[in-house]
Amino acid sequence: MFQKILIANRGEIALRVLRACKELGIQTVVVHSTADSDAMHVRLADESVCIGPPPSRESYLNIHQIVAACEITGADAVHPGYGFLSENAKFADILAAHNITFIGPSGDHIRIMGDKIEAKRTARRLGIPVVPGSDGAISDEKEAKRVAAEIGYPVIIKASAGGGGRGMKVAHTEADLEVALQTAKSEAGAAFGDDAVYIEKYLEKPRHIEVQVFGDGAGGGVHFGERDCSLQRRHQKVWEEANSPALNAEERSRIGGICAKAIADLGYSGAGTIEFLYENGEFYFIEMNTRLQVEHPVTEAITGIDLVHEQIRVASGGGLSVRQEDIKFNGHAIECRINAEDPRTFTPSPGTITHFHTPGGLGIRVDSGVYSGYKIPPYYDSLIGKLIVHGRNRVECMMRLRRALDEFVVDGIKTTLPLFRDLVGNPDIANGDYDIHWLEKYLAKGE
Ligand code: ADP
Repeated sequence: MFQKILIANRGEIALRVLRACKELGIQTVVVHSTADSDAMHVRLADESVCIGPPPSRESYLNIHQIVAACEITGADAVHPGYGFLSENAKFADILAAHNITFIGPSGDHIRIMGDKIEAKRTARRLGIPVVPGSDGAISDEKEAKRVAAEIGYPVIIKASAGGGGRGMKVAHTEADLEVALQTAKSEAGAAFGDDAVYIEKYLEKPRHIEVQVFGDGAGGGVHFGERDCSLQRRHQKVWEEANSPALNAEERSRIGGICAKAIADLGYSGAGTIEFLYENGEFYFIEMNTRLQVEHPVTEAITGIDLVHEQIRVASGGGLSVRQEDIKFNGHAIECRINAEDPRTFTPSPGTITHFHTPGGLGIRVDSGVYSGYKIPPYYDSLIGKLIVHGRNRVECMMRLRRALDEFVVDGIKTTLPLFRDLVGNPDIANGDYDIHWLEKYLAKGE
């Protein structure tokens, strides 16, 4: 087991990882920018190292500074959290070259899944169902038209290097295709420095369902069921549930089994998420994330298993603590992402939180790095906390969520809490009857 883990992240996820380390008796080091000197993860860690000024590229993305912090403090492993360097293959390789363990998969696996065209090819080879579309990058308009005619309109053009919902354009007819192709290409080039794009069938009413998988580092793989993340705004998840209201136990074990086998065949190590769109009873792979997800706590709530403990165990060579047959799904869980944003326009609302009071009681978990008097710096993403609620079934979970949202107080800044208070009372949400476009339509109506 590791002696000392360096946490290369900030906010709620830095704290989340820190808690797991403490439980396992592992010493913690956190790194932070000058803007985060007062952050909770800095206060609670055994050691902290300031690695640079506020902009991420000079601090949380600065590989040299982070490796230097490992060497100064004698950390033997790094947990990257999510975002920042968590899916940076070069970072994983550099750590390996310094004999520091990256708590995550190999650089090669990160590389394959980071390139969406390569990821889709790999998924297809591993027997995972994929969205119909081009085999590789689209070189010109002629090829785009040919593929689109083959799979049928509407189609979506996506950036191979894409992430965060950027560089995607939908074409409903052949007339839209040229513009969609050009805009997707230039957006991708500007955002990712790589303008390779591919085409796939645009699904009109899918749900976003993702499977949590784990490779044990020794050729084995398991799944921890699925999460439904269909409630999205601008392709960003807002509310997540486990299990999905749309799946039954048989479908869960079928898709879970396919994913677990794929992970084993790939020789993958650590936590991963295989993301699908789900429509008319069919799953279509869209991408795999090679890290812990923001929404992992809903899986922890229904399985009772700490996924960060498992990541640390696997990375240290100790394998998983559970076999597939030990993983049971118990009840229902929902997570709401609470952002420091206007609940209607979603404009960021940094500033000082004058009062912060979190709900409690049976089945409630709040993962947050903020506190009363905390000043939210304007440099990073606006997630200030996650409310995770567990109940014996979905109805109990929703009742508890409504009550928890009523108790939650965040004063001094705007947050997305009022949006969740609206959603929890909506009949479609109560029935679990929504697809990936539901939230955008609901917001557009301005209800
Ligand atoms: P990113 O890595 O940028 O998040 P994804 O491939 O994971 O991109 O897609 C993000 C979201 O975009 C999906 O959850 C879904 O809402 C939408 N999307 C992606 N591909 C399709 C598709 N083929 N049809 C319809 N919607 C899609």
